[in-house]
Amino acid sequence: MGENVIPLADLRYAAALPRIPETGFDTGGLLADRLGRPLRDLRISVTDRCNFRCSYCMPKDVFDSQYKFLPQSSLLSFEEITRTARLFVAHGVVKLRLTGGEPLLRKHIEVLIAQLAALRTPEGQALDITLTTNGSLLERKAAALREAGLQRVTVSLDALDDGIFRAMNDVDFPVADVLRGIDAALKAGLAPIKINMVVKRGTNDQEIVPLARHVREHCGPGVVLRFIEYMDVGATNGWRMNEVLPSAQVVQQLHEAFPLEALEASAPGETAQRWRYRDGGGEIGVISSVTQAFCGDCNRARLSTEGKLFLCLFASRGHDLRALLRGTQADGSPYSDEQIARAIGLIWSEREDRYSQLRGAQAAEPGSGERRVEMHYIGG
Ligand code: SAM
Ligand code: SF4
Ligand code: SF4
Repeated sequence: MGENVIPLADLRYAAALPRIPETGFDTGGLLADRLGRPLRDLRISVTDRCNFRCSYCMPKDVFDSQYKFLPQSSLLSFEEITRTARLFVAHGVVKLRLTGGEPLLRKHIEVLIAQLAALRTPEGQALDITLTTNGSLLERKAAALREAGLQRVTVSLDALDDGIFRAMNDVDFPVADVLRGIDAALKAGLAPIKINMVVKRGTNDQEIVPLARHVREHCGPGVVLRFIEYMDVGATNGWRMNEVLPSAQVVQQLHEAFPLEALEASAPGETAQRWRYRDGGGEIGVISSVTQAFCGDCNRARLSTEGKLFLCLFASRGHDLRALLRGTQADGSPYSDEQIARAIGLIWSEREDRYSQLRGAQAAEPGSGERRVEMHYIGG
């Protein structure tokens, strides 16, 4: 390793200690960042580990047997996660997404789901709670997740062809097991289910139409397939623009096979552009994070596995909330909910991230500028 290369593990600790303002940002106000964007969506990474090695996320040569994942003691406990989530909800968050790494690898995840499902917005509403998974353990866990209070799931699935799927997860995991997981989730009532396919030109773009056909014919309208442009997240996946297949071309391919018509966005801040099959065969979405930035109404914050708050998927630095959750003040007393809520309020109010909008203007080659946080650590 060259002298100037910062080891990945050290980057996880690049986080500022949050400032606690004396006044303001109490938990009742309407919070907006510097670009006027509210805080509505919190993504929580519950583990940095994964049983897959998708090359676009955790390439095997970097995340090998020598790689030091976080020790158990670094992870936020379920109580710490729930406390933090409650403070975010008081600031306007209405949607929680559990992610990772592979969230179903976190032991007793259903206990956390039950704790989060008990939270209420200031208006007394239940939260929208979902989880993104690679589907490998879903067949076993779907019913328990539903019972604990999970409403729906997003399953990542990059190919229907078993050979292509095994090569993309790079651990030789068979596609049939994920398909059974999706069936189990449908049976458990975890709907509507979203299936996310990351499209890499030259790797799985020939799978777009077969996967769409499979979902139309076998899953029904309770499943929405979404195509994600391959993104330059992190610093390890060797991203190149020529491997991105623009969503416009995905829509074109699909439209030729199954004519489509555009749908309105269902909620502000929604990442996907929605389309429906003209023959009533259901809906698809495209997430054009590279070719059509949607920073303008990005209302998402991300809590890392060890309690660092990141305000953008492409951030290099986080804010160390765990230091407040576990630390003590000068007089030895713990920080109160109100103090931590004020710190979160200040962090969000100073946010001005809009990486994807600026991407075109910057040289977005891996390795330029400060090294970005990895996707499996802050979640998708
Ligand atoms: N392990 C779970 C999974 O794969 O669903 C949850 C975590 S994964 C980091 C969350 C999402 O990020 C997945 O849908 C994955 O396909 C997506 N993702 C990871 N790296 C990506 C990249 N470079 N470009 C676009 N999407 C990516
Ligand atoms: Fe694991 Fe998900 Fe990343 Fe694939 S995308 S390596 S399944 S965390
Ligand atoms: Fe949000 Fe950052 Fe993605 Fe823009 S680049 S949509 S600010 S996460």
